[in-house]
Amino acid sequence: DTTPKVALVTGAGSGIGASVVEHFCSRSIQVLAVDFNEAAQEVASERGAAFFKADLTDGEACKAAVNDAIRRFGRVDILVNNAGIQHVSAIESFPEAKWRSIMDLMLTAPFLLTQAAWPSMRENGWGRIVNIASIHAQVASPGKAAYVTAKHGLIGLTKTAALEGGEQGITANAICPAYVKTPLVDNQIADQAKLHNMDEQEVIEKIMLKDAAIKRLIEPAEVAELVGYLASDAAASVTGSSFNMDLGWTAH
Ligand code: NAD
Repeated sequence: DTTPKVALVTGAGSGIGASVVEHFCSRSIQVLAVDFNEAAQEVASERGAAFFKADLTDGEACKAAVNDAIRRFGRVDILVNNAGIQHVSAIESFPEAKWRSIMDLMLTAPFLLTQAAWPSMRENGWGRIVNIASIHAQVASPGKAAYVTAKHGLIGLTKTAALEGGEQGITANAICPAYVKTPLVDNQIADQAKLHNMDEQEVIEKIMLKDAAIKRLIEPAEVAELVGYLASDAAASVTGSSFNMDLGWTAH
């Protein structure tokens, strides 16, 4: 089948998502970049991707994003569930509204997007779902109850989709990175520096890379390479798996 593949990437305006868009566009995959931030439109058009603005905490917006991809390109072959946020607070004081919006964005949106994209993948007998989880899908850190819970849950969705897709040519896998050099992490570095009265380099070395064997942050393009592999024909027998890209964090 030489029809160009169509990918829908969420959280495409920044960090890992932007890198995934670039990776796909440079390999002639047609991309619908989905983000709620208007600035993502420019990121998308610079790379030759189409853009759909959606706040993915809204279920209707998730369905509309898939419909937009099908209207433009006629199909969805690859779904990359990447949009995510962090909120750091002890359980005792964790705001309920924040918990709910993290579940909506990081668990319910991947479910609804998978559900909406499924018929197109099934009809074509080919589909790739790549969920950007986190090393916090494998281990916890204090203060990150909602994030850790959502990411652990995303592994459950990944495994279930793998089982249901097995006979339909649809694979589902998750990637579990440690700290990647993105705006999401830059903000955390700044916050931690204030909190611990350290400079930013100290925060990176003493807090973020404490358990890492390789003492540097991951580049977004390194994650995009693995997404590219999992979304390829070559990965046809890889499904239901989680890939740690964690600088050796969980090797302890
Ligand atoms: P980022 O903040 O750089 O980008 C996230 C993007 O998601 C932004 O463009 C933002 O506008 C978009 N987004 C946020 N809320 C949205 C919403 N409600 N609707 C639509 N779009 C929304 O983040 P990143 O670091 O590139 O993270 C991407 C994914 O990778 C997240 O799921 C994150 O949990 C995961 N991850 C990141 C790291 C890391 O260290 N950066 C590590 C492991 C996993």
